[in-house]
Amino acid sequence: MRARYNALKGFEDILPPSSGLWKELEDKASRVFLSCGYNEIRVPIAESTDLFARSIGETSDIVSKEMYTFMDKGCRSMTLRPEGTAPVARAYVEHNLSILPPPQKFYYAGPMFRYERPQKGRQRQFHQVGVECFGAGAPEADAEVIYMLCRFLEAAGVRDFRLDVNSIGDDKCRPVFRQRLVEFFAPVKNELCPDCQRRYEQNPLRILDCKVPRCVELRANAPAITDSLCDECRAHYENVLGFLDTLGIKYNKNPLLVRGLDYYTRTTFEARSSLLGAQDAFAAGGRYDGLVEEFGGPSTPAVGFAVGMERLAGMLEGNAALPVMDAFIAYIGNGTPQRALKLAAGLRENGCRVELGFGGSLKSQLRKADKHGARFAFIIGEEELASGMVKWKDLKQHTSGETPERDAGLLLKT
Ligand SMILES: [Zn+2]
Ligand SMILES: [Zn+2]
Repeated sequence: MRARYNALKGFEDILPPSSGLWKELEDKASRVFLSCGYNEIRVPIAESTDLFARSIGETSDIVSKEMYTFMDKGCRSMTLRPEGTAPVARAYVEHNLSILPPPQKFYYAGPMFRYERPQKGRQRQFHQVGVECFGAGAPEADAEVIYMLCRFLEAAGVRDFRLDVNSIGDDKCRPVFRQRLVEFFAPVKNELCPDCQRRYEQNPLRILDCKVPRCVELRANAPAITDSLCDECRAHYENVLGFLDTLGIKYNKNPLLVRGLDYYTRTTFEARSSLLGAQDAFAAGGRYDGLVEEFGGPSTPAVGFAVGMERLAGMLEGNAALPVMDAFIAYIGNGTPQRALKLAAGLRENGCRVELGFGGSLKSQLRKADKHGARFAFIIGEEELASGMVKWKDLKQHTSGETPERDAGLLLKT
């Protein structure tokens, strides 16, 4: 018995034509990011486990439940990256990029890994494109990053999305808010879901993120973090909102938007779409002014976002189509494969997409040409070999004729 394999649960192949759509989206992303001074960074797929535990937070869902962590043969605990910010910040510190003129801006694209229950738009290997900007603490930087996200979504063709923004304060004002939340939830603590009872002890802000209906009810009148911001955080937040107005970017202020990662400070934001149902957030980001220092670098403000490619591509799947072949070359007889290969090479060098018949009767080759959706078919038999001509058929207009081989490319330009 031969073995037959399937991809692992939660790990998906991306086939044509979807893969073409993905490539196009990644190209559009890099064009927008490059225009804002971002350059690509490629960081490893795996990092030491501690890097994520420290930065995302031991009590976060990602670290406590979802990481692909294992021992390598040298008994080092390593983890497949569940997100891109921590690895990029690690690289920034490791390579002393803080000595370069700020800001230093990077974008990345690639797979991330989280052990979750697979469902539509949520895979265990999923893909993100993201940006990270180091060394700019001014609210303009937050606005520029959000602008860039909107520009990319616009270029990608996403029309219906909602942008939520919030500020979660900093080390100075967040403890005050945390205390207010603890006091607010104390009388109903035992009614919270088990996860939230744990969050109540460890990080009560996360209760604001819970999807359990009873928790949603219980927090209906919870204090808003934006009422607890210190003067500096409030001014920063108001400036960010003002700049978004300047740029004509529409947003909703959402005081419940706390994000599930420990490293965020001040601005957080999320893009959601009603097209996605329950998994409706498809892009998210925020400021993380403490992370570089946490990794042993100098105090460095930073801000970034990531877009989930599965969810983005899912919204645009209708646009995925295989590109049309410009020409198909059918050939039969001694010496014709050489002529066909040379003709194809010449046309391809001129930028045409060309497919070959690869044997069989002329009739079956021409049937393939139709199936490939080629616009032109060229036919080379022994007669054409001798005369230096090729027959052509316009498969869309249903016309045909003969042309010297060297002029075949001209036909495709019409
Ligand atoms: Zn809950
Ligand atoms: Zn503050």
